[in-house]
Amino acid sequence: MNIINPATESIITSLEEDNKQSIAEKYAQARRSQPAWSQVPLQERIEKISQFHQLLETESEMLAATLTREMGKPLSQSRNELKGARSRIAFFLEHSGQWLREEWVWQEEGLGEKIVYEPLGVIANISAWNYPYLVGVNVFIPALIAGNAVLYKPSEHTTLTGMKIAELLYRAGIPQHTFQVVVGAGAAGQALLEMPIDGYFFTGSYATGKHIYETVAPRMVPCQLELGGKDPLYVPNDNANLRQVAQAAVEGAFYNNGQSCCAVERIYVHEQIYDAFVNHFMEEVQQLKVGSPEAADVFIGPVARKEQLNVLEQQVEDALDKGAKLLTGGRRIAQAGYYFQPTVLVDVNHRMRVMTEESFGPIIGIQKVTDDEEAVALMQDTDYGLTAAVYADTQERAEQVLSKINTGTAYWNCCDRVSARLPWSGRKHSGIGTTLSYLGIRAFVKPKAYHLRKPVS
Ligand code: NDP
Repeated sequence: MNIINPATESIITSLEEDNKQSIAEKYAQARRSQPAWSQVPLQERIEKISQFHQLLETESEMLAATLTREMGKPLSQSRNELKGARSRIAFFLEHSGQWLREEWVWQEEGLGEKIVYEPLGVIANISAWNYPYLVGVNVFIPALIAGNAVLYKPSEHTTLTGMKIAELLYRAGIPQHTFQVVVGAGAAGQALLEMPIDGYFFTGSYATGKHIYETVAPRMVPCQLELGGKDPLYVPNDNANLRQVAQAAVEGAFYNNGQSCCAVERIYVHEQIYDAFVNHFMEEVQQLKVGSPEAADVFIGPVARKEQLNVLEQQVEDALDKGAKLLTGGRRIAQAGYYFQPTVLVDVNHRMRVMTEESFGPIIGIQKVTDDEEAVALMQDTDYGLTAAVYADTQERAEQVLSKINTGTAYWNCCDRVSARLPWSGRKHSGIGTTLSYLGIRAFVKPKAYHLRKPVS
């Protein structure tokens, strides 16, 4: 398997892919190692993860450079991602003890009731390339702390990052058979679906997530899916800080080249402030620096996958055919690497794919609305349900809108934000299950209910 640098299209290295047989062997090793790992006292497991947390800091420059080289994320954003991953791990280190220890829920003379949280066993973590540290850490850290063995399949586009993660986990004292990297593309993921694994934790597209859900359903094991989004941002007419809102919206739409599950993917603006907002928005977009992701002040590097350039161009073409106006961008940049111009479309509507299908790139549509009711109807007009943002002067107005939107996350005056303290979950085609927060610690265990009655003397 060739690992390609999306900024230059050159081959970084070639790796041997796992095949069905080697994956079966890794599964068998993980299965054999898991009972011993679950017997390591919880505090010791937490200490090993704490070592890993430390190593992520010591090695952060090398790790950031690896990610930038294979995925094209600007170096400053790779560094930010590592910082974010460390803060998520810190949350798990601090709170896992509290949520995993056994709980006595009832005790009276002669009868006790307690819950013991047992690990699931061997789990598969099939992951995406856009934030490999963040979305990986959401799964394999609480899974390991809870006493599971993990078969980790990074995306083929971030395999080197996945291998570095494993290296550091081993250095931190996690047994090699307890955490294993499965190297390969879709076929390697598919092979994992055919093993008798005890839980599937997937981050990726709706299409692959649906396939995984359907495939493993007969086995009745936990299957969590963190999938795509078409996340809306709404600016009602009471907003007095349009320049700041435009800055935040540009960052939400274009950070990581728009390749975030919770990126702002469509914007609705009240007609009374629409022109002013669009002007501010365009001023911000004109300042985005596009270039080599290794250069210090670049905000937009290449997209990670070549095929996405076609998707983006088709969305622009479709919108223009149906009457949209292009304010800037609209095409790939004619040079080596998978570069696409930051693109802004106005006069858009929901007959256009750019307003209904996940773009996952540096492209955004801005639509005018007449009131909150129309904004709510449009925000709701989607198969996805990950996040929604409202930039309003009052919390009350924002909550009135947000309470009507069927998403797992709601933002007032912020967007494209994830907190380890809060549950991260999608609704509808954005997925099922929860990571992060105490719910994301409990996602990797199964409760056993003990009814304990003393013999009558
Ligand atoms: P994909 O669905 O293409 O791939 C995700 C993972 O599944 C990859 O490791 C992929 O391997 C693997 N895979 C592909 N085919 C199969 C199969 N048949 N069986 C098992 N595994 C398979 O998604 P992307 O990697 O392109 O990620 C982008 C998507 O992820 C976007 O939709 C984004 O919104 C979503 N996402 C959601 C997040 C959330 O928290 N809700 C967070 C981050 C991203 P390979 O890539 O090697 O082919």
